[in-house]
Amino acid sequence: MLRIVDCLTVDHDLRFVLLAAAVCVFGWTATMIVSSRAAGFDRTLMWRCLLGLCAGSTVWATHFIAVLAYQTSLPITYDAGLTAASLVLGVIVIGSGFAIAIVGRTDRKQRALGGATVGIGVIVLHYVGMAALRFPGHIGYDANLVALSIACSVVFGALGLDAAFAAVRRYRRVLGAAFLLTMTVSLHFTGMGATQLEFGIADVGAGTGISRSALAIAVTLAAIASLSIGAVGAILDQRVSERFAAEAERFRTLADGAFEALLVHDHGTLVDVNAPARRLFGLSEDLALHDIDDLFGAGLDQTLRRWADQYAGTAAEMTLIRTDGSSFPAEISRRTIRLANGHAGELIAVRDLTQRKESEARITHLALHDPLTGLPNRRFFVELANKARAQAERYGGHFALFAMDVDNFKLVNDMHGHAAGDELITAIASRIAGVLREGDVVARFGGDEFAIVETSTIQPHDAMALAERLVELLQQPIRLADAEVVISVSIGIALYPVDGSTLDELMRNADTAMYRAKADGKATYRFFEPQMDAVLAARRKLETRLRRAIIEERLEIAYQPLVDCMSHAPLGFEALVRWTDDELGSVSPAEFIPVAEETGLVVALGEFVLHRACRDAVTWPRPLRVAVNLSVVQFKRKGLVETVERALAESGLPGERLELEVTESLLIDNRDDALRILSELKGLGVSIAMDDFGTGYSSLSYLQSFSFDKIKIDRSFVADLEHNDQNAGIVRAVMSMGKSLHMRVVAEGVESHAQAGILRGLQCDELQGFYFARPMLGEAVAEFIAAAPKRDTRLQRVG
Ligand code: C2E
Ligand code: CA
Ligand code: CA
Repeated sequence: MLRIVDCLTVDHDLRFVLLAAAVCVFGWTATMIVSSRAAGFDRTLMWRCLLGLCAGSTVWATHFIAVLAYQTSLPITYDAGLTAASLVLGVIVIGSGFAIAIVGRTDRKQRALGGATVGIGVIVLHYVGMAALRFPGHIGYDANLVALSIACSVVFGALGLDAAFAAVRRYRRVLGAAFLLTMTVSLHFTGMGATQLEFGIADVGAGTGISRSALAIAVTLAAIASLSIGAVGAILDQRVSERFAAEAERFRTLADGAFEALLVHDHGTLVDVNAPARRLFGLSEDLALHDIDDLFGAGLDQTLRRWADQYAGTAAEMTLIRTDGSSFPAEISRRTIRLANGHAGELIAVRDLTQRKESEARITHLALHDPLTGLPNRRFFVELANKARAQAERYGGHFALFAMDVDNFKLVNDMHGHAAGDELITAIASRIAGVLREGDVVARFGGDEFAIVETSTIQPHDAMALAERLVELLQQPIRLADAEVVISVSIGIALYPVDGSTLDELMRNADTAMYRAKADGKATYRFFEPQMDAVLAARRKLETRLRRAIIEERLEIAYQPLVDCMSHAPLGFEALVRWTDDELGSVSPAEFIPVAEETGLVVALGEFVLHRACRDAVTWPRPLRVAVNLSVVQFKRKGLVETVERALAESGLPGERLELEVTESLLIDNRDDALRILSELKGLGVSIAMDDFGTGYSSLSYLQSFSFDKIKIDRSFVADLEHNDQNAGIVRAVMSMGKSLHMRVVAEGVESHAQAGILRGLQCDELQGFYFARPMLGEAVAEFIAAAPKRDTRLQRVG
């Protein structure tokens, strides 16, 4: 140890030592820069050779400058051949050490082995370099120190390359450079310490050596030049690579951001994929684990080729299987590309169609199904029923078509609200679905209408059994969230082929049969019979003729007086429409008003009656009231208030002389709208009467919701007043209620003296009926008024 310290402090020229140190630091730094290039995954042999050269020349230059620092008065020269040999050997062995460490850089042992090789290279370089010394005398070595120098070199070399190429360490190159520096310095000075120059009269071989200072300058310059070239090259290369890496990153981002999964394969081996492809197929990090056939199935080629022949240029749709075994619909397009290795590879673009298919399916489902029950809708039903028909036609089979309607659905809706109505429809749908057999189809046509195609083998026997079942089953109470309801259904059945050969015909006939079931008391079924069609045809005829009568203003108005209960003096007249058709004869409003309401004709009809009644009333000899009936349908159309206003204005009739009769059904749905319109009508000065009172339901609450001027007790209560005490009780109750609500009470349909007497006893306000007068036409009204007793004002309340 002493020898080493001595050797350093006494025998060496410090300026040369510093120069050697500088070259060494610079050299290893440059080497580390080059090594980071050489270790890049795509590096070529050129960089590895350069690396060996850098490392070798660093050690070599350091060594020779350090040797030059060794001070002696003796003439020392250097053998050129051995000097060169030391450089070449050093470069080769050190370069090999780096190559070993770089190739096996993931393995610590390999890195250490490479480092130890570098250490050996440095030893070789040092001792061969020492052998190049020429001076009078010869060199002796201290064996222990030589061994120590070798150990130092090998150990620090191993530590250096391990540090430099271990991927995890952050400042690994700096640490590596530090170890290699230590290796160089420790070897050199231990080596020098081990060296004893024994001067004698040995043959110097003068003339073959190179002078000391010349060598120093040459070595330094050469070392700096070669190291600089290496370092600058490495830095430039780094810049370029960074730019390439950034560019590559940009493309990667672009590829990963693509909506499609992109896969590149080289004859079945996956080469590259983008992030969507990894996600879509559930690929693992190591692409080598996957084969293209695993993803697309071995049949891909055939499938795609067949498809490509058919639809050149467009993408193919097929079902693919993920690595976890699940499958998904996909659209695939592919293209041949040139790979980096020069092979013709293939780029496959896969678009996941799961979402698109789902929305397509959802749209199709929505278009073909009723959203509430999920049952087929009318459109889908027609499609399915047509299939059944085509089948039956081809094989000579038969089937039954059911039209089904819930009898009192509106009532449930009115009493329990629309939510309950929806709930009820859903419950009915599942009850129906529960009794159908395979092959049968049930559909909801909206509202409370259902239709069924039954494709059983024995018709009409099976159809009858099913209809009975349905009628029975749907009469069972149905539990809703807030109520339990009892409903019933009416069913009409048409059989193929006897009741029609087309679906249209069958559906129409099933409907006709269903109306028949309703007319026959509901909660039952009817098979279609040809004469039912006649009923429907008659109804249609009525409709067309009525329409024409309204347009041609061929309707007339009959007036029936309302008289004072005590004096029997007329107080007003009710306008009742009359229609006599050329072909149909006189038709009762009880028959044609419902048709007019269903078809909307009642709006035009009502307007006509209103105008005519107002115009007629102004011609009467006394300013009596005229009462006009309004249909619910008229309230549902806009402009009723304006119509009434116009009728008054055009006729000049004061609003006080007009009375409008409405029924309770007006207040059942759209109650708020109805009440608003009623108030607006009252605002015109007209009075409002509640007609047919007692025939609807929950009548009392309706009476309280609006201040009607008059209540007309339905004629059914008056009809057997003489024989039915219960009716008298009802009339009495209505009387007292009317009084408390300040509404006048009228009894309709008074046909006998006895009835009039009872009603007088019950203190009715007004009476109306055949007993006083039948509805009369034209001049008869004025004559009736002229002949009638004057009104007894003492008994008349202001109304
Ligand atoms: P309604 O409003 O209850 O009219 C009274 C009905 O009872 C009239 O029948 C009248 O002729 C009849 N009647 C009067 N006195 C007696 C009697 O003592 N015994 C019997 N059995 N019947 C009597 P009509 O004219 O056949 O009208 C039937 C229904 O047609 C009316 O019932 C009314 O609801 C509707 N209607 C009539 N004209 C019109 C109209 O212009 N517009 C609207 N919307 N409906 C009308
Ligand atoms: Ca009436
Ligand atoms: Ca009435």
